Amino acid sequence: MVPLRSNIASMAGYVPGYQPPDIASWIKLNTNENPYPPSPDVVTAVLAEMGSDGASLRTYPSASSQSLREIAGALYGFDPSWIIMANGSDEVLNNLIRAFAGEGDEIGYVHPSYSYYATLAEIQGAKVRTFSLTDDLWIAGFPERYDGKLFFLTTPNSPLGFAFTPGYIEKFAQRCQGMLVVDEAYADFADVNALDLVRKYENVVVTRTLSKSYSLAGMRLGLAIARPEVIAALDKIRDHYNLDRLAQAACGAALRDQSYFEDCCRRILETREWFTGELLKIGYQVIPSQGNFIFATPPDRCGKRVYEGLYERKILVRYFSDPLLSHGLRISIGTREEMQKTLNAMQEIG
Ligand code: PMP
Repeated sequence: MVPLRSNIASMAGYVPGYQPPDIASWIKLNTNENPYPPSPDVVTAVLAEMGSDGASLRTYPSASSQSLREIAGALYGFDPSWIIMANGSDEVLNNLIRAFAGEGDEIGYVHPSYSYYATLAEIQGAKVRTFSLTDDLWIAGFPERYDGKLFFLTTPNSPLGFAFTPGYIEKFAQRCQGMLVVDEAYADFADVNALDLVRKYENVVVTRTLSKSYSLAGMRLGLAIARPEVIAALDKIRDHYNLDRLAQAACGAALRDQSYFEDCCRRILETREWFTGELLKIGYQVIPSQGNFIFATPPDRCGKRVYEGLYERKILVRYFSDPLLSHGLRISIGTREEMQKTLNAMQEIG
């Protein structure tokens, strides 16, 4: 075989959560998807964009997604020049690494959090440094001055669900000599976010996704908010037509329908609080969550046993074999009915 770059040859590649082919026959709580459909306006907008004969699909979409930058800018309180749209927030995470970290440079992130940062760094040939969490969920051993090119802070954290306070995140903005990427994939379910820090610090970028709170994981839509210089750099790197026509139509309709969005989030938070309370009653430990999922530990601290019991009953949750996480399970919050069935199954499994 023609030789690969050595970093590609040696890397394992990221393994996303399992998507079963017969998805409708499962209660699927393993990838933090939203149990509710997207706003009805999304369906209308996508159908209108396609037209009855699909003729619009002949032509390329808007390369800049400018109208979406305007909608998102108005929503979050930023000039559109501070916004870039992405084909899922994964795309913008990838492009941040490509923009700021070259071969041999260091990037940092917290373990456990989203391990895809490490995969992206490996592709780039960058070095990865992980920082562990203390027992009370702070970051251990972060230097007064961190020289890595990028530091990724996932808040709310996945898989654990807790969020860092803006005051704590600010310390990282001050200590990082490179970029601080605040990955807010789950911030719509949280009480706090870091948007003010983007205004205050030139090295802070916030990434968001429409996969979770807007029920659009299948459309691949995300965005980043940062200084215009950073956005301009990311614009040079991205695929020039990174959002297809249907995704752009869906995105605009979803962001405009804020009352539907708020209603969905409210329902998920209510179910999250109810489900957490029920699990505590049956002896589970649950970290108070700010996301659309919880991390729950059974009394015998054997996550795999409960995972397998649920799997047999066609309920899919996320088990991590990592020794730091194998005692528990990450369970996405589905509808109240799905969570009632999951609770019943967990009671049965014991
Ligand atoms: N960040 C975190 C913390 C995530 O959990 C995910 C979803 N797996 C992403 C980013 C990527 O989301 P998407 O590409 O669907 O926008």
